[in-house]
Amino acid sequence: MLPYEFLEKFFSDSTCLIAVIDRHQRVRYHNMHLIDGVGTQWRSKDLPRCFELFYPGQNRCCDSCHVKEVFASGQTLIREKAHPRLGHLKILCLPIRNNQGEVQLVIEQICPAGTHQHIDQREARLRTIAENTEQQLRRERDLARHYFDIAEVMMVVLDREGRICQLNRKGCQLLGFSEKELIGQDWFDNCLPQRERLASRQFFDDIICGKLPLGQKGENWVQTHDGRELLISWSSSNITDDNGQISHLISCGEDITEHRRDHQALTESETRFQYLAHHDALTNLPNRLLFYDRMEHALEKARRYKRQMALFFLDLDRLKNINDSLGHSVGDQVLVAFAHKLQQLMRKSDTLARLSGDEFVVLCEDVNSIDHASLLAEKILGAFGSPLHVAGHTIHAPVSIGIALLDAEMDKAHDLLRAADSAMYRAKKAGGHRYAIYDSASSIPRRDIFHLESHLRQAVERGETFLQYQPQIDLQSGRLIGVEALARWEHPRLGMISPEEFIAVAEETGQIVALGDWVVETACAQNKAWQDAGLAPITMAVNISPHQLSQADFSKRIQRILTKTGLDPSLLEIEITETAIMDNGEKARETMRGLCELGISFALDDFGTGYSSLSNLRYLPLKKLKIDRSFIHDVPHSDPDVRLVSSVLALASSLDLQVVAEGIETEPQLVFLQQKGSEIGQGYFFSRPVAAAEVEKLMSRNFLGL
Ligand code: C2E
Ligand code: MG
Ligand code: MG
Repeated sequence: MLPYEFLEKFFSDSTCLIAVIDRHQRVRYHNMHLIDGVGTQWRSKDLPRCFELFYPGQNRCCDSCHVKEVFASGQTLIREKAHPRLGHLKILCLPIRNNQGEVQLVIEQICPAGTHQHIDQREARLRTIAENTEQQLRRERDLARHYFDIAEVMMVVLDREGRICQLNRKGCQLLGFSEKELIGQDWFDNCLPQRERLASRQFFDDIICGKLPLGQKGENWVQTHDGRELLISWSSSNITDDNGQISHLISCGEDITEHRRDHQALTESETRFQYLAHHDALTNLPNRLLFYDRMEHALEKARRYKRQMALFFLDLDRLKNINDSLGHSVGDQVLVAFAHKLQQLMRKSDTLARLSGDEFVVLCEDVNSIDHASLLAEKILGAFGSPLHVAGHTIHAPVSIGIALLDAEMDKAHDLLRAADSAMYRAKKAGGHRYAIYDSASSIPRRDIFHLESHLRQAVERGETFLQYQPQIDLQSGRLIGVEALARWEHPRLGMISPEEFIAVAEETGQIVALGDWVVETACAQNKAWQDAGLAPITMAVNISPHQLSQADFSKRIQRILTKTGLDPSLLEIEITETAIMDNGEKARETMRGLCELGISFALDDFGTGYSSLSNLRYLPLKKLKIDRSFIHDVPHSDPDVRLVSSVLALASSLDLQVVAEGIETEPQLVFLQQKGSEIGQGYFFSRPVAAAEVEKLMSRNFLGL
């Protein structure tokens, strides 16, 4: 590219025509003098040839072309020529050289013969311009080289044969070669791994020949001097010669190896995690979560096509004895052997799952009568009548089976499961290793949702509800750094009702909003009271359910409570589940962001039991992940759970999240979690949920005995 503005400065005041011409006779620059007189007009965007300048319509250069002559001789040329319109002309041509001394351009001055200026003066002036042009070109080149070298991306220029013409500093650094070692060498043979060479060269050749357009971006692997492979993302552009042919390809490349590895690791750990989160780690059978999902689908199908189905609930009668007498490892192997045998008894279309400990379920979608179900149950009992052979032991594994057949009253997976469970309980109570079929009349009564609902309405007003606080411990220092507020309800007649039961009722009936407000306010007021009493600041974690989060004024409610109680927002942490976020979509994210801005933090509760994609977590303003206690239960004995917890911890650290391990009950669990880098722990090993006064005492304790 010529320094156009620079030339303009010199040429615009000249009364002569001045043109700069390259070795293909293309006019790179000219001023306007004399041109008007000739009547030359160019419509095309191409650069004009020098002969077109003065002889419009002519399409080839004459044999005595003075420009060609200067390129050939490298000497200044002075000549006179006659022009049909302008008459006698005086021509002066000077060479402009590049760094290697070769003539790169010719500068030509043409004046009418009557011009008085002496030829020596004109030559001197033109020489100054030529020298200046040379200098300017050099400066431009140096500047371009400078940019080329300081670029933070690799830049490489290849000629049509794929040879390296230029490689910048970053490129040398990435490839581990010096510029000298590579200039003039074949790019493909020297810098690409063997397997990439053929295809890449073909691709390159097709671009050079114009068979393929030059795409915006591409990726390929390169090989460094010491044999490492780097994945490079390229953006390329071509350089054309004066005939419009591609002469060079200039490419900028960015090393994306690490980025790609991180991405792959995240995807792999997500896939692995999704599998582990939906399967029982020991037997590889679907777990409760996946089973519920499959069951809901089956129920929908059964309803639509008016089909029957049966659910078998199986419970090993003697697992506790086996664990106690032969150890947990044998107990685990018994479970695996049991699952395996059960799987062989059932059809492929049946869904088997392990719900927990010694509880298994089988959903049979084609069992349509009590007789059919009884036959199947007897087959199972018969198979488990003979012992299992595990780890050199002969083990009897009797099993109690409860069966529920779908009926009109059971419209949820939950109902069918509860019915089969209660039948199983009857079979067990009757002595075990037998089956019972659910029948609503003889079932064990369960608490009626409507019954609870009416009591729950007045529970808060009557002072039947209260909070307990469970300590959260810093696993490095052993100090209590926070508490989780847990709601309790003690009914004068019904006794203690578990939060899992009444929170579910409150959720279903919408009472959770008022109850939730009461929990948040009580918890915040308690934390403020601790602050006012001069105790060290700790976080107060409160559980928020999906229904609460969906309230349009949720943020306002929280803010109002903070103002009322005067608690510093940074001491409030909201525990939220994956389901709550998924249910409320973008709105939930917005609400969370707003509250975060106030200083409130968020923890994702029961992590691992929901369905959300791990990659989605990246877009949530979360501070902590709470690994659900079901995953902690079997560490460090169960390899799959160890792998799962380790992968959650690795993932959390890559997402910059703190991890709270819930449900730590034993020292080996604690040691394992500490070794794996879990920062915070919660569980009966440290403390059960306790009353506020008890928390004050625990604040001064070191839970690790440090
Ligand atoms: P969560 O939020 O996961 O709470 C932790 C539960 O684990 C508590 O059960 C706690 O007592 C129990 N836990 C803690 N450490 C251990 C341990 O080492 N072993 C065992 N086996 N369990 C442990 P809790 O109090 O019965 O609460 C059950 C669930 O009820 C809570 O699970 C939470 O989802 C819900 N919940 C409790 N209070 C509230 C509330 O105020 N609002 C809402 N929306 N939900 C609440
Ligand atoms: Mg919680
Ligand atoms: Mg939890």
